[in-house]
Amino acid sequence: MQSTDPATAVQTIDRATCTSLDAVDPLAPFRDRFSLPEGVVYLDGNSLGALPRGTRAHVDRVVAEEWGVGLIRSWNDAGWFAKPQSVGDRIAPLIGAGPGEVVLGDSTSASLFQVATAAARLRPGRRVVVAERGSFPTDLYVLESVQETVGGPAPLERRLVHEDGPTLEDVLDEDVAVVVLSHVDYRTGRMHDLAEVTRRVHDAGALVVWDLCHSVGAVPVDLTSADADFAVGCTYKYLNGGPGAPSFMWAAARHHDAARPALTGWHGHARPFEFPVGFEPAPGVARFRVGTPQLLSLAALEASLDVWADVDLDLVREKSLRLTELFISLVDHRLGRWPVEVVTPRRSSLRGSQVALRHESGYAIVQALIERGVIGDFRAPDLMRFGFAPLYVSHADVWDAVDALEDVLASEVWREPRFARRGDVT
Ligand SMILES: *Cc1c(COP(=O)(O)O)cnc(C)c1O
Repeated sequence: MQSTDPATAVQTIDRATCTSLDAVDPLAPFRDRFSLPEGVVYLDGNSLGALPRGTRAHVDRVVAEEWGVGLIRSWNDAGWFAKPQSVGDRIAPLIGAGPGEVVLGDSTSASLFQVATAAARLRPGRRVVVAERGSFPTDLYVLESVQETVGGPAPLERRLVHEDGPTLEDVLDEDVAVVVLSHVDYRTGRMHDLAEVTRRVHDAGALVVWDLCHSVGAVPVDLTSADADFAVGCTYKYLNGGPGAPSFMWAAARHHDAARPALTGWHGHARPFEFPVGFEPAPGVARFRVGTPQLLSLAALEASLDVWADVDLDLVREKSLRLTELFISLVDHRLGRWPVEVVTPRRSSLRGSQVALRHESGYAIVQALIERGVIGDFRAPDLMRFGFAPLYVSHADVWDAVDALEDVLASEVWREPRFARRGDVT
């Protein structure tokens, strides 16, 4: 009888097994729609997604035709003014949102300020915001501004939850206005149950703002069936919109008319070209717009959304779990001699599309890996992070990455002083 013990199964896996898995992978053809440098295993698509092949030509055309020839006329003729919403409508199916519910904004930080302020204002009288201690720090920093903006004379109070406690149950009560959570944790890859957590927040009478930076394009998300309130997310990570691509904001339709954003700018006005002196919010999520949108970044994003239009997210999830499971098994099997700890949940329902490994010299190890063409990244103080973007990462890539990792650890090449040097961005 064949053993079903995964620890035994992994011993029989070799590179040929991985290439045969690639041969039957329904998403494998998508790799050709990206331009990746020769000899690179790219496991950092969770930080900056790869370049879709169609992006250059599309951006070129927008620059040459819409800007160069159309000039100011393109605000109408090329649909520039409506872009933040028309592009939002193309993101909507990726997050379980309806048409007219998503709008593109500035950075995720700015967008979080917009929607978390609006959310807190929908619960007047409640004086507490809740967030996670392990959040991507900008979310916490932005929340400080929300606390001051909404609080009046004294800022709103902040309560932080953590896996080791206090839990959400510990801090939720009738004083809590808003809970801001990352669906998938940027460091550990731990994933919340969107619907279940939303329900618990609602039971306390509070609203939830989901940060989808590490979810959108990585795992299926259904904000509507989860009955969530607000969400924001990045488009330059798994969505491959390019460096500086704008973030998106989503609000459930039931909040559209009452939501009062933090920044009330002319592009969020109901009648911007009548230039009235007072702000009057545009209907729906358009009110979250502030000023002139980054049209060239939106053009790059549109080109990547042409790829996403052809993607089945259930296949993305299946492959993502296969890749992360394979990586974890190979790490367990081949790196057991070294003090490398898998920090990411092993239960697939709790895992996004990345795996974090802990090693006290993680920074130097990642630098040595990058020199070998395996690009992951490092998050202080000791986490090596590997993102598995299912559209362009193969099973063979996973094999090669673990090979390189084993080689770096066995040779101890990472101890060379040049790998300890840190740039501005780590
Ligand atoms: C990447 C990321 C951001 C990025 O914020 P920007 O303002 O777009 O730089 C914010 N929150 C989380 C959780 C992230 O992962």
